Amino acid sequence: MARRPFIAGNWKMYQGNPDGAASLAKAVIQSCGSQEQQVRVAVCPPATALAAVCGVCKGTGIGVGGQNLYPKDEGAFTGEISGPFLSSLGCTHVILGHSERRTYFGEEDQFINEKVIASLASNLVPIFCCGESQAQREEGSTEQVVETQIRGGLANLSALEIEVTVIAYEPIWAIGTGKTATPEDAQSVHAFIRTVLSDMTDESTSAKVCIQYGGSVKPESAETLLAQPDIDGALVGGASLDAESFAAIVRAGL
Ligand code: PEP
Repeated sequence: MARRPFIAGNWKMYQGNPDGAASLAKAVIQSCGSQEQQVRVAVCPPATALAAVCGVCKGTGIGVGGQNLYPKDEGAFTGEISGPFLSSLGCTHVILGHSERRTYFGEEDQFINEKVIASLASNLVPIFCCGESQAQREEGSTEQVVETQIRGGLANLSALEIEVTVIAYEPIWAIGTGKTATPEDAQSVHAFIRTVLSDMTDESTSAKVCIQYGGSVKPESAETLLAQPDIDGALVGGASLDAESFAAIVRAGL
């Protein structure tokens, strides 16, 4: 089953100045050309730059994602941003459950699940992140860790909701470290994720889910990773801050 590749850039806490972020977004649009017709593309800037980047990307086919949301529509939740707020800016996606949020902000599967449900209610495509630590990989518990994160984070979703959710498999030891999982190791976890999704829904739904790989993806490593049968795209951190590198990764998805 042909899944359209999806490359998303996670700008993390960089490019927060609206003017600078708008310039980077314009450079991404220019470098990617019209490739987003064959490859889905999205950029996820910090909250302070979302409005500017949504303005620049409007009508281009390039999606814009938040990096987090709080699972209530509004209320006395100082410092938080809701799904309806992101939607009202023109956002199309939101990254949820990133390992940096799990590690530094103590986010756990149940809370992430509330966020996933809230994102779907606001018509935002969740980019749901999962992945094991170095120690968990060494002790052989990668599959168990990833399965627990997926079953917890995507609990109570209908088959259709799971179908539209993007899963980003991001081994923690590969994020921002320059270490990339081998294409074979990544493929093996992606195939396993698809069997978990099949068990949670059915084979035809699972075959439609986009599963991205994330972890130090660079133009040089993108092609072999994206050639794997169950790797449908990439969530790119560091390399997404350079329009040319990001565009080269998008081209690798063609
Ligand atoms: C990420 O933050 O999701 C990520 C994959 O970062 P990097 O590409 O820098 O490893």
